[in-house]
Amino acid sequence: MADFHMTRLNRLERAKPGNDMRMVYLEANAVRIAFRALSNETSMAGLLEVLIRNSLERVGAERCAVALLRDGEFWIEAEARATVDGVEYVMESRQLQECDLRRGVFMAVARTHRRALLDDAPWLAEFERDVDATQRTQRSVLCVPLLGQSGLLGILYAEKDSGPGVFTEEKVALLEVSALQAAISIENARLCAEIMRSNSMREAAKQELRELRDGLGWGSSHNTMRQLAASIIHEVSQPLVSIASSAGAALRFMRHDEPNFVEVEDALKRIELDSTRAHNVVRSLRALAKLSAPSFSVFDLHDIVQEVLLVTRSQLEEHTIQFDTNAVCGTSMVWGDKIQIQQVVLNLVINAIEAMYEITDRERRLFIRVSTSGGHVRLAIEDTGVGVEKDAANYIFAPFFTTKSHGMGMGLPICRSIVQAHAGQLTMEPLSPYGTCFEVWLPEARQRISTYPEPGI
Ligand code: ADP
Repeated sequence: MADFHMTRLNRLERAKPGNDMRMVYLEANAVRIAFRALSNETSMAGLLEVLIRNSLERVGAERCAVALLRDGEFWIEAEARATVDGVEYVMESRQLQECDLRRGVFMAVARTHRRALLDDAPWLAEFERDVDATQRTQRSVLCVPLLGQSGLLGILYAEKDSGPGVFTEEKVALLEVSALQAAISIENARLCAEIMRSNSMREAAKQELRELRDGLGWGSSHNTMRQLAASIIHEVSQPLVSIASSAGAALRFMRHDEPNFVEVEDALKRIELDSTRAHNVVRSLRALAKLSAPSFSVFDLHDIVQEVLLVTRSQLEEHTIQFDTNAVCGTSMVWGDKIQIQQVVLNLVINAIEAMYEITDRERRLFIRVSTSGGHVRLAIEDTGVGVEKDAANYIFAPFFTTKSHGMGMGLPICRSIVQAHAGQLTMEPLSPYGTCFEVWLPEARQRISTYPEPGI
């Protein structure tokens, strides 16, 4: 583009070989200044102001106007008029009226896309039906098209009362070159406005998506709750069935002619174990009932691991998944909403289990490791499942990403937002030679209380 401008400038400078070179230099310099001022403007209002001011000053006009085409109609967007008190600017948009400007000249430029100078005899012939023009022949009018890549953008209009010949060839050329740069800048400004409009539309769409995601998040946590509830029902009914059968066995051993107290004692021990198991499950259910209202407290990640294992035990058994954890009671105290963190861990464990469904050529193993480092508690959930691609961390947390036929792809983004709302981090890395590791980092309870305010989830 710069080369093109220079070509136009050179042509302008060479146009009058006999002219005073200093004059040519000054005009060319004026063009450069006008160029710079116009190309620096990216807002339409600023651009029109620069254009109208430059045009009035540089061509010595008494009145200038910029009209732009919008939906096939001309709108005067900016006007400047030299008065005895200085220059008056009107930067308001109004539709072009019959009485505005020298309409005949103006419309000829609109039709031909060529500049028109109304103190030039051959041009006058073209406008002889322009009554207004013939009545006021003492007025010089110069009209230049603003031609962009997309066609005619508008017209730059200048007039002066003091007779013919006021718009010299240099001034006409100057206005034409200004119009050329102005057209480029107008197209750029429109593009900028369009980009800004698209950006704000994209922001609005992103906001909608966020709201949708939050909404879906709620639904998804409901889904998780349903899964949790189904597991709990399964977990409670199993020990109840077992208690009933152990109690029946104990009764039978008691009713023998010679009661077998060893067998009775074994049955009672089984009843005791099963009732403890059922009791624990009911405790989880109670915790689940509080799910709707987030409440922050200090809790042990070890408990979360145990509770999640309790509700996923049947799935682990069904798919012959070996399980291993180093979570030790009292070593992993964190601050947060226990139920939400439970949801996160449950989601990650269910994902790990599901990733191992299809594995037949190696052991299916789930490791849950807890450690502390730099004021944070790290919970790592590792599996020997199908694994993920090397660069999966770039997209796996994106909403709606799923490889499962029944999946929704909302689990991981929700988990990540919960963990982040706890001032923590959720990360993922592929394991070698197979499997995946998800890590939940949460601030250690003491660190959390002293460093951060309570998060508003
Ligand atoms: P969903 O389970 O509904 O697909 P998620 O957001 O929980 O939604 O998981 C998104 C995707 O991430 C899964 O479909 C799966 O492709 C991948 N993924 C998650 N966890 C694991 C894992 N442990 N191993 C392999 N892939 C996983």
